[in-house]
Amino acid sequence: THFGFTDVPEAEKESRVGAVFSSVASSYDQMNDLMSLGIHRLWKDHFVRSLNPGSPLSTRINNPEQKGWNILDIAGGTGDIAFRMLDHATNIHHDIDTRVTISDINAQMLAEGANAEHMPHIPSETVDLYTVVFGIRNFTDKQAALNEAFRVLKPGGVFACMEFSKVDNPLFDAIYKRWNFSAIPMIGQLVAGDRASYQYLVESIERFPSQEEFKGMIQKAGFMIPGRGYENLTCGIAAIHKGIKP
Ligand code: SAM
Repeated sequence: THFGFTDVPEAEKESRVGAVFSSVASSYDQMNDLMSLGIHRLWKDHFVRSLNPGSPLSTRINNPEQKGWNILDIAGGTGDIAFRMLDHATNIHHDIDTRVTISDINAQMLAEGANAEHMPHIPSETVDLYTVVFGIRNFTDKQAALNEAFRVLKPGGVFACMEFSKVDNPLFDAIYKRWNFSAIPMIGQLVAGDRASYQYLVESIERFPSQEEFKGMIQKAGFMIPGRGYENLTCGIAAIHKGIKP
């Protein structure tokens, strides 16, 4: 089976993405470990350390009384990133005021659902940190999600995204593509009994824009780009992009 997404109407594409994650929800964390050989845990720890949640915020200009950070974790799934951020705030900064709202389109991943492309229930300029980890690749309208991120962030607020990206070394890229296209659907079949969903995941990685292209989309939403704008992890298998709302 093959999930051809390119010729599918937008509305149907969204429901198919929903179906993929409904299907993988129960085995999701276990599959991540298998597929990335456990490396996704190191990336996630690195991502959270680099954001340093719970540290004193100098940029919070519209409410100096507020204690802790107001974090929005989009496509937060089972809360892997959210709980890491709270642990960091508590253990490193002894901060018990930082809050993380987890948002996801999928009710099986989460009790409360929302589509990242349109979140009218989240007021503008209320969020200190917006995170989206291994989520935006699946969004139908990625630019709309970036524009929403820009809207909900406070001036000075940070957008941070970790996503599969483009490998920067041709030889390693060839090995990586072989692993992706043959091993991952097979592991999906064996462990989750679902080859098609994992085939879709591989294809979505392939279709996602390059580091530079994605940086351009973040800029287009209105963000200021700090430094080079992104950091490659494991030769670009994943990349962390950041933007700051001016
Ligand atoms: N951030 C978590 C992590 O790293 O462990 C979960 C990532 S999981 C690969 C991707 C998540 O994106 C799924 O839970 C899926 O339901 C969610 N998702 C897909 N499209 C979405 C959308 N348009 N809005 C919000 N969430 C979406």
